[in-house]
Amino acid sequence: MSQKNYEVLIIGAGVSGAALAYELARYTDIESIGIIEKYEGIATLNSSGTS
Ligand SMILES: Cc1cc2nc3c(=O)[nH]c(=O)nc-3n(C[C@H](O)[C@H](O)[C@H](O)COP(=O)(O)OP(=O)(O)OC[C@H]3O[C@@H](n4cnc5c(N)ncnc54)[C@H](O)[C@@H]3O)c2cc1C
Repeated sequence: MSQKNYEVLIIGAGVSGAALAYELARYTDIESIGIIEKYEGIATLNSSGTS
């Protein structure tokens, strides 16, 4: 089993998680950010453009 380490791990790839990832990547010196999404794609629930 491979082991991955992140400085920040965001749970959920909806608009909130995606926006947080962008803000941290753009405006902080955090170098490793992970996002975990339980479904196959991003923004498939409330953040879906077709909702
Ligand atoms: C029909 C509808 C219409 C809307 N219209 C508007 C509008 O006109 N204007 C407006 O401002 N807002 C609107 N909203 C509200 C807006 O869509 C939501 O507030 C926003 O999308 C919430 O984003 P979020 O990232 O917080 O949550 P979500 O989009 O729900 O994303 C959360 C993500 O986390 C994942 N997740 C959850 N639990 C886990 C776990 N344990 N492990 C891993 N991943 C997990 C989910 O799979 C999901 O991808 C609407 C919502 C709906 C349903």
